[in-house]
Amino acid sequence: MGHNQSKHPEFHRDNLKKEGYVIMVSKSKEKRRWLVLSDKKLSYSLSLGTPPKNSTTINNKFRVTYDNSSENSIECQVVNKKGKTQQWIIKCETVQEYRAWSLIIKHAQRPNWDDPRGSSSCKICNGKFTAVTRQHHCRKCGLAVCKKDSKEREIIPELGYNTKVRVCKNCIGKRSNETPDLNS
Ligand SMILES: [Zn+2]
Ligand SMILES: [Zn+2]
Repeated sequence: MGHNQSKHPEFHRDNLKKEGYVIMVSKSKEKRRWLVLSDKKLSYSLSLGTPPKNSTTINNKFRVTYDNSSENSIECQVVNKKGKTQQWIIKCETVQEYRAWSLIIKHAQRPNWDDPRGSSSCKICNGKFTAVTRQHHCRKCGLAVCKKDSKEREIIPELGYNTKVRVCKNCIGKRSNETPDLNS
């Protein structure tokens, strides 16, 4: 590829980091916890500097099931570090914190884009990429695909894409976590 693809931010999900106090709601009890998002992992501890009590990986088993700005709360279905499916309810103290957490969790769910060094051919039709047939990426699965295999545009609210973006023909109409996860 003529230009340096690897500089594109979509190849670098691992840079996403956020931490701060939130309220974790469990069995209708509210507990103040230190929440950390780093390297596609979400974990919480009793306070800043203490070891994590629980953690989950943001992969295709992770999903946000409820996201409500009027309550500043985000509900996620997660698989915890022991492999158990759990519901995490994250309540934020301010609407600004809620918005920041909601956005970064959605961004962490986006797939890493296929091959930062540049793929040589389309992962759907195997057609070679050239100066004319350029490489594109599906926002839902991250695969490198050609133009004719990625004609559709969709909004993908669960990944924080609120305007229409490129989607490959395998992903049309599917939830993002029904598509193959390149990271696992
Ligand atoms: Zn193709
Ligand atoms: Zn796709």
